[in-house]
Amino acid sequence: GPVFDAYAIKKDFPILVHEKVNGKSLVWLDNAATTQKPQSVIDRIAYFYAHENSNIHRAAHELAARATDAYETAREKVRAFLGAKSANEIIFVRGATEAINLVAQSWGNQYLKAGDEIIVSNLEHHANIVPWKRLADAKGLTLKVIPVDDDGQLLLDEYAKLLSPKTKLVAFTQVSNALGTVTPAQQVIAMAHAAGAKVLVDGAQSVSHMPVNVQALDADWFVFSGHKVFGPTGIGVVYGKEGLLNATEPWQGGGNMIKDVTFEEIQYHPSPNRFEAGTGNIADAVGLGAAIDYVTKLGMETISQYEHWLLEYATYHMKQIPGLRLIGTAPDKASVLSFNLKGFSNDQVGKALNQEGIAVRTGHHCAQPILRRMGVETSVRPSLAFYNTCEDVDRLVTTLWRLIK
Ligand code: PMP
Repeated sequence: GPVFDAYAIKKDFPILVHEKVNGKSLVWLDNAATTQKPQSVIDRIAYFYAHENSNIHRAAHELAARATDAYETAREKVRAFLGAKSANEIIFVRGATEAINLVAQSWGNQYLKAGDEIIVSNLEHHANIVPWKRLADAKGLTLKVIPVDDDGQLLLDEYAKLLSPKTKLVAFTQVSNALGTVTPAQQVIAMAHAAGAKVLVDGAQSVSHMPVNVQALDADWFVFSGHKVFGPTGIGVVYGKEGLLNATEPWQGGGNMIKDVTFEEIQYHPSPNRFEAGTGNIADAVGLGAAIDYVTKLGMETISQYEHWLLEYATYHMKQIPGLRLIGTAPDKASVLSFNLKGFSNDQVGKALNQEGIAVRTGHHCAQPILRRMGVETSVRPSLAFYNTCEDVDRLVTTLWRLIK
């Protein structure tokens, strides 16, 4: 049974307590798109603007010191959350999309040349396809794809055949946003490294559902978005191994990243500053730090166990509904319950759920290749977080039963 009290935890999230949709209390099952924010995160951002707001030039004056301390404390929280060796390995960006573009356009642009190969998986979000495809087209690289089976699991035997000395990068997701598949990340990374390739892990859908340790994974880069882990929008993270980051030319140029500039020569700071040109999203980095405090207090292992139990509960009850096809049936899944309902468009299902105050996403979830691989263009996608309860799942299932009757 549940190992913690999701009903009590829900009370920390004002939107889940107070908001009504169509006269019904809100059931938020769109967590793969974005997550709701606990009061502690909302309060922390307000506190920053009320008491600490400044640009981050520590030495300038008192508030600059406060803002710098708050920002660097948040960086340290991210370091601990990911199990990174050094806070110098944590770069703040806008989100997972910007994070992947940063790696593609800095490291990729510097180190990859015509004939090199990049491997992605069939499960990827467009954010982990488009930057690589654009780079491949621009530089004459080859993009290869790890196929999946009918349950949505990576085919590791096929992956092994794709790897060669030409492989320079493997970029793949730890959890699929469209199917919920948890990939065998450690194995995928070890196989890539054995072939001499670097590895980028898209953690956008994993960090909110399971403990992550980038050193245990041995990822070269690991990226995620703050807003999917109960933090604010507009802030995200690139983790990269320190040596690799310092051997990479910056992506954008400007203030904050510079050791010395003349019109003849530029010297960059080491990481992280070399990748943080211009004034960053200081307040939301601080807000992300508060979100990390929140989930760390609950415990990622505890969250993972509770969500696993809730996902099994939801899967069992959804499978009883005649005409409901679950899309993505891997044994190892997190959060996501993509489906189609026979006789109803996904749009009709989404509207019927919204009528009852239940928020789910319908569409292609920015992951068209994997939905097409599963034989569909779109799906209805409820996705769970630790603040969801059995009652939330029951309301979803009851509404679906009422729809088909
Ligand atoms: N990768 C995955 C697996 C995602 O689910 C998402 C967000 N849907 C992204 C990348 C991109 O994240 P963002 O839009 O926050 O940059």
